[in-house]
Amino acid sequence: MAAIHILQERKSQIYEKGTEPFAMTCEKHSLAGSVSQRACVFCGSRVVLYPIADALHLVHGPVGCAAYTWDIRGALSSGPELHRLSFSTDLREKDVIFGGEKKLYYALSELIETYSPKAAFVYSTCIVGIIGDDVGSVCKKVAEEKGIPVLPVHSEGFKGTKKDGYKAACSALFKLIGQKEDKSIGKYSLNILGEFNIGGEAWIIKNYYEQMGIRIVSVMTGDGRVDEIRRAHRASLNVVQCSGSMTHLAQMMKEKYGIPFIRVSYFGLEDMSDALYDVAKHFGDNPEIMERARNIVRNEINSIYPKLQEIRKSLQGKKAAVYVGGAFKAFSLIKALRYLGMDVVLAGSQTGNPEDYELLKEMCDEGTVIVDDANPLELSKYVIEKQADLIIGGVKERPIAYKMGIGFCDHNHERKIPLAGYIGMLNFAEEVRRSVTSPVWKFAPRKTGRQR
Ligand code: SF4
Repeated sequence: MAAIHILQERKSQIYEKGTEPFAMTCEKHSLAGSVSQRACVFCGSRVVLYPIADALHLVHGPVGCAAYTWDIRGALSSGPELHRLSFSTDLREKDVIFGGEKKLYYALSELIETYSPKAAFVYSTCIVGIIGDDVGSVCKKVAEEKGIPVLPVHSEGFKGTKKDGYKAACSALFKLIGQKEDKSIGKYSLNILGEFNIGGEAWIIKNYYEQMGIRIVSVMTGDGRVDEIRRAHRASLNVVQCSGSMTHLAQMMKEKYGIPFIRVSYFGLEDMSDALYDVAKHFGDNPEIMERARNIVRNEINSIYPKLQEIRKSLQGKKAAVYVGGAFKAFSLIKALRYLGMDVVLAGSQTGNPEDYELLKEMCDEGTVIVDDANPLELSKYVIEKQADLIIGGVKERPIAYKMGIGFCDHNHERKIPLAGYIGMLNFAEEVRRSVTSPVWKFAPRKTGRQR
């Protein structure tokens, strides 16, 4: 394989620790021609709102946009599954010329009559922004006629980065919050934000907090329900996991309702335990909550510790490349991989901010490559140069790993098994070991950079 070069305009978004002064550029539009791994604004908002299972999700645009996010995610529901249907207004040439508002009105009306959702989200795609459909007024009209919240999501693909899509989703959620009262919600209560119930993860986390004696008012958005979100303003605390997607909402709730928030992660033993202890500390006036948290941590770790030690033996000294959506997840993964005896040689994210990258730099070893908004060639280059044995990423990173002849662990929304919580850490360790030590690599030799 010939040497892989980096585009000049991408150089400020890549940093190798120890080789140069740290001056990372991030939070900017993807470079045209770079073929970034990052998706569009619409996709960002769609993935955040997708798991709300009793809502109608209507994509106002060409059918291709809807196909892009249709039911490829592992977000489970304990009840309705309307979220798994991604409806589209299927805008065509005539609609682009004469406008798509009528089509949107009839599609919304018919879908609400057919499926009786608790609310509807209407996603604006690129073409809707260009032709100037007044999506807000159509939503308002249908909401009045049908008596349910109909929320426009201003997610035109061209108007920013995937992170702007998260913000558009947060703005839509914020309109729902506060619409329902529930005086039975007491002091020891919280909302889980940025947890999408992939493979049932929200159920695992909810169970821990409930064992501690805390009421979960809503999960946004895993196994989400419209009515729970409508009364989320009654909770005492917001616990934010996927900080890139949900900090915006937590900040808005803090300003309007005075609800404080903390950032946590449910991945890896250390961060999972901190997520329980930090909540217990918040409710420090009740020492029983901390006592119960300690019991959960002790029992859960004891139950998986022997198996983790055994897995560690086969992973000692192996090298991993981590490329994920949000930087906060990368922090947890670095800790979890180190616990398994592995070295992280590349760490990157699609949506990290300057503080995230500063922290990532502090956490990483000398020689680790830190990258923002990477493209496949960059990932391939550093995987080869750093001789990684594993890539951790999502659906778009999987083929890169397999083409390079190395292991892969899916840590994104498409996976079907839970990786959060203590049981999730064991699942993660087992998956990493299976992939890194698989005999299949004998038949798909690793790329070394010397082949042509
Ligand atoms: S970039 Fe625009 S056209 Fe492409 S999927 Fe996103 S919203 Fe649709």
